[in-house]
Amino acid sequence: AAKERGKGGHFVYVPGMTTRIVAHAELGARLRDAIDAGQLFLEYQPIVRLDDGHTVGTEALVRWRHPELGIVPPGEFIPAAEQTGLVVPLGRWVLREACAQQARWLAGLGPAAPSYVSVNVAGRQLTEADFSADVLGALADVGLPARHLMIEVTETAVVDAAAIAVLEALRDADVRIALDDFGTAASSLGLLLTCPVATLKLDRSFVDEITTVARQEAVATAVIRMAQALVLSTVAEGIETEAQARMLRHLGYTYGQGYLYSRPLPPEALAARSLAAPALAGLAVQHTS
Ligand code: C2E
Ligand code: MG
Ligand code: MG
Ligand code: MG
Repeated sequence: AAKERGKGGHFVYVPGMTTRIVAHAELGARLRDAIDAGQLFLEYQPIVRLDDGHTVGTEALVRWRHPELGIVPPGEFIPAAEQTGLVVPLGRWVLREACAQQARWLAGLGPAAPSYVSVNVAGRQLTEADFSADVLGALADVGLPARHLMIEVTETAVVDAAAIAVLEALRDADVRIALDDFGTAASSLGLLLTCPVATLKLDRSFVDEITTVARQEAVATAVIRMAQALVLSTVAEGIETEAQARMLRHLGYTYGQGYLYSRPLPPEALAARSLAAPALAGLAVQHTS
């Protein structure tokens, strides 16, 4: 009943639609079932070096293969999962799956494997007891050295000293820490003094019109200067055009991800892409500015 009909009488996807449907249908119970029923799966988006297009890592992104709704993107269920607390078991599954996949790539692709997998972690997970022990346990279970894992937290997730302590424990164990969607929250600058972060991910909202909107270029410039002064690495998100990539390289950004390089891919497609990588990197070098 809640599906909306397009002009031709077929169903069309309306942003926010699944949130409404699923909320009505007790998302909590269904998402919990989804985990048990194996309806969640991960795609992996390459994170590339901007100067030659070489894939250095991937970001794991969760999707829900819903029996009636089809593939539901995370924006439609992660916010609700955060509210209900279900993001904790969901996040635990994501972390284990991503670590297991990274271990398989390292074993199967050898030097062609991306060197790390980056996993989004919600604020609720960070404040959960034993989160760092859980992460280290997942790494140990699949035999993945910690340096092959990055975790992405948003500025709003790092709420207190306890969350910082958790990140410090992970950092001390060699897990890489990135601040995701950097620049979109109010607390960014103070956090850089206390949070043991190694990487800033410049939010897509500062990239989308970077070549035409002077204020976006100004923010991107301010962020890279700050990152360089603090010796942090940078990943620019949401790069869709060669002009954006050229501008970001010019400003000094080292890494990026976006549809220009690749959409998020199933693991087999990511592996195939990695094996074809030397040729791709060679092509990218030719149009480096
Ligand atoms: P994010 O962590 O900032 O991830 C980047 C999002 O931007 C992804 O959307 C990705 O598919 C999209 N993207 C990448 N390149 C481009 C581009 O060139 N143009 C545009 N327009 N978009 C691009 P996705 O997969 O829908 O994920 C949305 C958000 O959901 C993520 O944003 C993250 O906050 C959250 N999320 C995804 N997976 C997980 C997870 O396992 N756990 C948690 N807690 N959150 C997750
Ligand atoms: Mg992310
Ligand atoms: Mg992001
Ligand atoms: Mg973002």
